[in-house]
Amino acid sequence: MVQLTAADFKAMFHKLSARLAGERDHLCELDGHIGDADHGIAMEQGFGAIVKALDTLAVDAATPTDVFNIAAKSFLNAVGASSGPLYATAFLRAGAALKGKETVELDDAPGLIEAMARGIEERGKAEMGDKTMIDAWKPAAIAVAQAREEEWPVKDALSAARRAAEDGVEATKAMVASKGRASRLGERSLGHVDPGAASAAIIVAEICDFLDR
Ligand code: ADP
Ligand code: MG
Repeated sequence: MVQLTAADFKAMFHKLSARLAGERDHLCELDGHIGDADHGIAMEQGFGAIVKALDTLAVDAATPTDVFNIAAKSFLNAVGASSGPLYATAFLRAGAALKGKETVELDDAPGLIEAMARGIEERGKAEMGDKTMIDAWKPAAIAVAQAREEEWPVKDALSAARRAAEDGVEATKAMVASKGRASRLGERSLGHVDPGAASAAIIVAEICDFLDR
């Protein structure tokens, strides 16, 4: 039985930070079509701040919850854009879901995707179809819940979540934005991918790759 430690989650954030730094220009370009072209910068800075904070943590004495709480705080402090409080709440919810655990069983880890999605939903109050990151997070969370109910192997749960998030991104092209900055464009937001959904699918994919061991 594989058990994930605080050090593992720190490594996961390092992986996320490197990937999002690499996607910065692409995400800014997407945000340039329907927003203010800063989404890639927000994500690079947010995850960069997380790894910087985690590098000062005595990880051997820390719990997975500590890691997610530090992630929440540093992301919120680093990101002034609307994605700041959304991801901060996601990380807080993930930390709360792991509370009291020294380690996390790999089989339970896909539940993190559900906890993060719930946090973003509670904080931003967006629903599926509003053309936001929820259009990627929620389908991924639904896939994880279904996999658990039907007792799929973790590997299958992860690939279902990854695929659901990617499909969700694609679906945002046909949506009119009704939340956040892009909602000011109305019908003119049609035909464009939502940048927050695009980064969400990248994050889901990285988390799934990380857990797929
Ligand atoms: P800002 O719009 O402040 O510049 P970002 O560019 O970092 O922030 O993020 C924009 C993304 O935030 C959007 O593409 C959308 O996915 C997401 N978003 C905006 N408002 C909400 C909300 N209420 N709930 C969920 N996601 C939202
Ligand atoms: Mg923006």
